[in-house]
Amino acid sequence: MQLTDDIAYLKGVGPSRAKVLADELGILTAGDLLHYFPFRHIDRSNAATVASLTEESGIVVLTGTVSNMQTVSTGPRRERLTVDFSDGTGSLQLVWFAGTKWVREKLKPNIRYTIIGTPSVFNGQWQMTHPEVEAEQSAAGRQQSAPFLPVYNTTDKMKQHGLGTRALSRLTETLVGCIVPPEETLPPEVIGKYRLIPLGDALKAIHYPDSTAALDAARTRLKFEELFFLQLDHQYARTDRQSHSVGRIFPSVGDHFNRFYAEKIPFPLTNAQKRVIREIREDLRSGRQMNRLVQGDVGSGKTLVALMCMLLAIDNGCQTCLMAPTEILATQHYHTFLHMLSGLGIGVELLIGSVPAAEKRKMKARIASGETQIVIGTHALIEDDVQFRELGLVVIDEQHRFGVEQRSKLWAKATPPPHVLVMTATPIPRTLAMTLYGDLDCSVIDELPPGRHPVRTFHRTEPRRPLVFSFLKQQIDAGRQVYIVYPLIHDNPKLDLKDLEDGLEMVQSYFPRPQYQVSMMHGQLSPEEKAFEMQRFKQGKTHIMVATTVIEVGVDVPNATVMVIENAERFGLSQLHQLRGRVGRGADQSYCILMTKDNLAGSSRERIQTMCATTDGFQIAEADLRLRGPGDIQGLQQSGILELQIASIVDDEPLVRATRDEVHDILADDPNLTRHPTLYNYMQHSKHKQLWSKIS
Ligand code: ADP
Ligand code: MG
Repeated sequence: MQLTDDIAYLKGVGPSRAKVLADELGILTAGDLLHYFPFRHIDRSNAATVASLTEESGIVVLTGTVSNMQTVSTGPRRERLTVDFSDGTGSLQLVWFAGTKWVREKLKPNIRYTIIGTPSVFNGQWQMTHPEVEAEQSAAGRQQSAPFLPVYNTTDKMKQHGLGTRALSRLTETLVGCIVPPEETLPPEVIGKYRLIPLGDALKAIHYPDSTAALDAARTRLKFEELFFLQLDHQYARTDRQSHSVGRIFPSVGDHFNRFYAEKIPFPLTNAQKRVIREIREDLRSGRQMNRLVQGDVGSGKTLVALMCMLLAIDNGCQTCLMAPTEILATQHYHTFLHMLSGLGIGVELLIGSVPAAEKRKMKARIASGETQIVIGTHALIEDDVQFRELGLVVIDEQHRFGVEQRSKLWAKATPPPHVLVMTATPIPRTLAMTLYGDLDCSVIDELPPGRHPVRTFHRTEPRRPLVFSFLKQQIDAGRQVYIVYPLIHDNPKLDLKDLEDGLEMVQSYFPRPQYQVSMMHGQLSPEEKAFEMQRFKQGKTHIMVATTVIEVGVDVPNATVMVIENAERFGLSQLHQLRGRVGRGADQSYCILMTKDNLAGSSRERIQTMCATTDGFQIAEADLRLRGPGDIQGLQQSGILELQIASIVDDEPLVRATRDEVHDILADDPNLTRHPTLYNYMQHSKHKQLWSKIS
């Protein structure tokens, strides 16, 4: 059988099962089924007995006989079927809620069955719901020689059509016996260097290995394969873009940059800031379009780096814009820019959704004419009717909030396309950066401005609230300011607001007016109200800011020294890290207090412990990845780029590294892949190629 053959022609499939496979798993061809990997194997030499079951057994295989079949009606046209199963060491109840008719007709006493399923204890008795059942004879006849049985993920609908993991394993067994294996995909020198087994062998052994060693070898080979081609997709896109794209050349450092540096810069740049600006300058002189990611932990001074690069663009006759994820942050950047650039004669505008229509029209006219040189805004900036005269550089702050689609819109705003600088503090684990951002060049600001003390973090529970509040009082009386943040819990914003208002009331009873002033900030406020509250807090007119996570990203008030996070167990690690980054921005010692309920469950406790143990964004990112898995990391799910089937970004870092290096060397040596026809062919058909070319 060939890989491209219709799966319906595999013995045991047929048209109706083929439809189920297509609908449920997207399996259309023999090759698709071959690439549907089991998620584990059952070691048959280690078959279980009822007596040996534990709560942790997971999926097990048992052999025995059935008796005492009973049907109980549980509602109109619903019933429960129970059967006793016994293997001589003990007994277990098998339970079905669906497909009962079929089971009743099939199961007979005095025949030995092999059953597969997950046992659990119910009312003090072992039970197994919807097990797979097969007469032992036919099972033994088939797989005597297979020491490991593959176990596949299946859906309810598949089970209803007799396509449980057992049935699927029968199909893959047939398939493995008759398939013409695929041709080798990886270059021979790579296979040799890493001692990988041939692809065809791996694809068979991943289903039916002879030994655990053979299974390991198959898994390694297939993970390598997967990561290698992911790297190839990303790195090829970058190489391709670098050789074809035309970028504006910004040859000179001009008046604006120099005057800012000589007269306006409020403090000396850190070495890391200088290095990153140099890296960006190289890009801007190279003649290629820049796509660079600047990673720098919260408070590392990314805004200043962006501002100086924007001045370079202006010095070279271009306009530039800065996109922020929230109006609050855009507004803050606007004020920072106005302040830092005052007297330099540069036109700066704030374009956000709340600007009145008439004013917006005038603003857009000034942008179109080139009178405005710097535009700061939110996604309103990428609306199609915002036309620039000469857009040379786009800076995207905290990009994880911006989807790929939105980014790609910006590229179309000028010819040649503008340079793009993406800034993020959301720490990205190294393995992820290597894969997800394989197409972007990367700079890291790995140094905080001098004189910063790491934020001290404490975990507190409700009984100690009075102590926490008296600590806040001390800080406020010493002239500092405080944030108290509440999570968004309800689907209903009104209920969240209620939580916040209750919190506010409590805070106000501890901190009475007029001695203490409290601001409240949340998503329901109008942009004007938000700006007003933010401004008052920034100017030190209010002492406490009670807020939801609208202040999560970017907000910069150096005099604020305490961040209290209520219901901290409800936040993810990267959010907690971002929130904590709102303090520790000035010279004073800052504090983060995580308030939680008393008994924390496993992963919540680990998150809180991680926060108390470290302020290093990368360590936090690694912990986050470990706790949540990559599918969940903000922005990744929507990106659709990171769909790994067998490799794991968490566990396979060495393989991520190895494949990245191999692909890098191949492309350095043979950028057009003319000497690697297999890889060249692959790239011609890659779905990623289209996606990436759209972004880049
Ligand atoms: P982030 O990287 O989180 O965006 P910001 O750009 O908001 O950080 O900078 C954080 C704070 O550090 C700001 O108050 C900024 O003015 C200040 N800052 C930036 N660069 C320096 C520097 N080189 N020396 C001292 N303070 C700096
Ligand atoms: Mg920032």
